[in-house]
Amino acid sequence: MSQLSLLIELQTVHDNLHVIQRDLSAFPPDLAALDSELKMLAKKLEETGRALVSSRTQQASLATNLAAAQKQEDLSKAAVKETKQKTQFTLAIRELDDRQRQKASIARPLKDVETRIEALERAEVEMRARQAEAQRQFDELRAVFLSEHENQVEAERRLQARRAEIAVEVDPAVLVKFDRLLQQRQGRAVVSVDKGSCGGCRTRLRTPFLAQLREEKNLYCESCQRILYDPAQLP
Ligand SMILES: [Zn+2]
Repeated sequence: MSQLSLLIELQTVHDNLHVIQRDLSAFPPDLAALDSELKMLAKKLEETGRALVSSRTQQASLATNLAAAQKQEDLSKAAVKETKQKTQFTLAIRELDDRQRQKASIARPLKDVETRIEALERAEVEMRARQAEAQRQFDELRAVFLSEHENQVEAERRLQARRAEIAVEVDPAVLVKFDRLLQQRQGRAVVSVDKGSCGGCRTRLRTPFLAQLREEKNLYCESCQRILYDPAQLP
């Protein structure tokens, strides 16, 4: 088989796979609802995970600050205990007061962060439980759905096997280009010449280019880069 025939067949395989995969992803309503719920849960879990990381970082830094403030408070308490002279005692009490206020100003936001972390952790546990349950229901319904679409599943398997067979025979550099074109050109990598124009982008092809194409010297459309063939020359 020529490279060109292989590429044309590869395009047909892809077209058929596309149709089958579209059918196989056209879920009935209950399955579609579970599918979107699972996607939504995955997104929320990711957001919750990120919020937890940032809250825990905040918690760690506040806890460090609180420990330092506690140390300062302890020092002040000791100072109050040891002071006998009246004026010094008043000063020491005032200092202790300041340091207790300072500690409180850290303890409050720390408490808030801890409350937030607990709420996030609870939400995470609930979402994971729901995710597991929804996934179980989804798998169950999907198995039923796939068994009802047994023919398509079988055809998909056959097409994928054929795709792999063709892939080993095609020049690797051309295969890379083919796959890139599939992505960039809405699934149409190989197109035929149609009345002297590219069947993909409709650009009029130059006469010398058409001559080269007939000799299989120039495979790519000069405008859209798709792989071109002239149906007239196919066996
Ligand atoms: Zn073109």
